[in-house]
Amino acid sequence: MILERNYGHKISKNLDGKRNSFHFSILKKSKKSLVSSMRSAMAVPRGLHLAPLSLSSGSAPRDIVMTRSFHQTTPAHAFYRPRVVILGSGWAGNTLARRLDKKRFDVRVISPANHFLFTPLLPSTAVGTLEFRAIQEPIRTIEGLGKYYQAKALGIDKEKQLVQCSDVFKGTPFDVKYDYLCVAPGNKTNTFNTPGVADREGKVVFFLKHLYHARQIRNRVLECFERASNEHISSVERDRLLSFMVVGGGPTSCEFTTELYDFLRADVSKWYPDLVQHISLTLAEAGPGLLGNFHRSLADYYLKALRQKKIDVRTNTAVIGVEERQEGDCKQYTVAKLADGTEVPFGTMVWSAGLAPVKFVARQQRQSENKEDQDGNDKDPIFELERGRIVVDDYLRVPNTHGRIFAMGDCAVTKSGALPPTASVAEQQAYYLGDCFNKYYHEFDVRNVANQNQELPLPGPIVSTV
Ligand SMILES: Cc1cc2nc3c(=O)[nH]c(=O)nc-3n(C[C@H](O)[C@H](O)[C@H](O)COP(=O)(O)OP(=O)(O)OC[C@H]3O[C@@H](n4cnc5c(N)ncnc54)[C@H](O)[C@@H]3O)c2cc1C
Repeated sequence: MILERNYGHKISKNLDGKRNSFHFSILKKSKKSLVSSMRSAMAVPRGLHLAPLSLSSGSAPRDIVMTRSFHQTTPAHAFYRPRVVILGSGWAGNTLARRLDKKRFDVRVISPANHFLFTPLLPSTAVGTLEFRAIQEPIRTIEGLGKYYQAKALGIDKEKQLVQCSDVFKGTPFDVKYDYLCVAPGNKTNTFNTPGVADREGKVVFFLKHLYHARQIRNRVLECFERASNEHISSVERDRLLSFMVVGGGPTSCEFTTELYDFLRADVSKWYPDLVQHISLTLAEAGPGLLGNFHRSLADYYLKALRQKKIDVRTNTAVIGVEERQEGDCKQYTVAKLADGTEVPFGTMVWSAGLAPVKFVARQQRQSENKEDQDGNDKDPIFELERGRIVVDDYLRVPNTHGRIFAMGDCAVTKSGALPPTASVAEQQAYYLGDCFNKYYHEFDVRNVANQNQELPLPGPIVSTV
């Protein structure tokens, strides 16, 4: 059957029940007219992304060829729901899991966190302004979710289409089969191998990424105040316990510094009025200024405001180590060693100085660097990493996986340009991928042997060959 429309292109559609193919060819059309003509041709509802993510903000494609071609077959296909396995329950993973059409897909989530975390409000929970439960949503509330595994992904067997996992309780290994794999484990805090930081993490040094980090910080802050209120300790020791240090000048550190300041001045000073004079707050940043990616005027305004509040902001000052010091016979305390040669004794340090890939992603990089495995066989690296992030194409597909593996959120970077590691990017990517699955990818019979080595057809009718 040939469908012809008067917007300058043809749709040929063979409806014999065995194979569908759509071929389009449009030259030199503007992005807007192209998308609207494709919407009417395919009766695609408004609001759905047709183009790859990069097209939505880029210039109009000059030369576009569109193809969608695959084997669509067996009656069994009508009953089989392809299994979409999602790694991670954060902004990207949770959004995708909620949006996927459960009538069409068997959706499974693997994540060590059994909840979604609203990260922008995490600093407020660390100081008690908000309760922990106010910023989390259990994964099990996702309607129609096939299965949730509280586990970490460790590796991928691309040939067998398996994710190798280990449960968070006993480290028991197990595998989960997938038809499509969506990788969204975010990233982790980077210590830059600074001596003494990792060893003291959770004791006097704290990260701020997960809910349990916020709990640890809250407990430690209160512990420091209770210990400092003990009459038997010296004034110097009191100063040390109530010295708070924040490392890193990015948005997370800055938000936390401000929250902590408000908490110390507005709340703590009411409960421990005698201790106010002992409190100090230091923010150390290795670079020349705070909030590096923000507009200069905003960063300068913020820096000025912190200094007016008597917060000791030290720019161009890297923390190069965390060490123990001994006073007298038994009194031990911890200091931050700074690049300028000075030391700051502290009771609590919150480290949020940078991002690094999680182990699962970093491992794939190591595999790709070691071209051979123990038996001398060539390894086929699954991820190509760029600055620790998985390189994906504009459709969020991991290259060389026939469109069976996708990556999104903080862990991924598109070839056409890096987007910032923010919640809004992660969420929008999940919306996009959800739409692709619900509207297009479900048509592809992933179990048909004839499709096994076939590339998953691109979402919608558009393929850019600019
Ligand atoms: C304190 C703080 C404040 C922030 N404020 C803002 C803000 O105001 N605005 C903004 O846009 N962005 C903000 N961000 C950044 C934003 O949170 C991230 O960009 C966003 O979380 C990225 O989403 P994601 O899904 O890629 O990763 P995440 O949300 O980090 O989710 C990753 C998920 O993967 C899981 N996981 C980790 N390892 C594995 C593994 N091996 N296997 C399976 N699952 C795994 C984790 O448990 C987690 O559930 C903030 C971040 C923080 C830490």
